[in-house]
Amino acid sequence: MTARRSDCLFCGIVAGDVPANVVRRDEQSMAFRDINPQAPTHILLIPLAHHTDASALAAEDPHQLADLVTAAAELAESEGIAGSGYRLVFNTGHDAGQSVPHAHLHLLGGRTMAWPPG
Ligand code: 5GP
Ligand code: ZN
Repeated sequence: MTARRSDCLFCGIVAGDVPANVVRRDEQSMAFRDINPQAPTHILLIPLAHHTDASALAAEDPHQLADLVTAAAELAESEGIAGSGYRLVFNTGHDAGQSVPHAHLHLLGGRTMAWPPG
């Protein structure tokens, strides 16, 4: 499913109905700062089209999935964290804590992070 979902928070950000601190946007995707940052840099990258999670995005638009990772790497450079390192996360489903059912890639960096995650 790729049409806008009227009940989807991130579709609302795509449409401009929900304000966001947007750091990047092109014809297919956008990136904005997380409202509750967990690291000095915490950016969410999303496809403009609605896909429920990363697995759905991979099945429905694999090039877009790859483009999100490329965009994240470019943002890591512009945020000054490419050299120090960063983490890319797709929380998927309940046990991973996915709270917004519109595929989103977390870009986290600017501090040392623990592994395994909690
Ligand atoms: P998830 O928990 O689904 O992996 O990630 C959802 C993320 O969206 C969370 O990190 C949360 O802080 C962020 N978030 C939730 N609502 C908003 C919002 O209205 N604006 C922004 N910028 N981020 C949000
Ligand atoms: Zn959506």
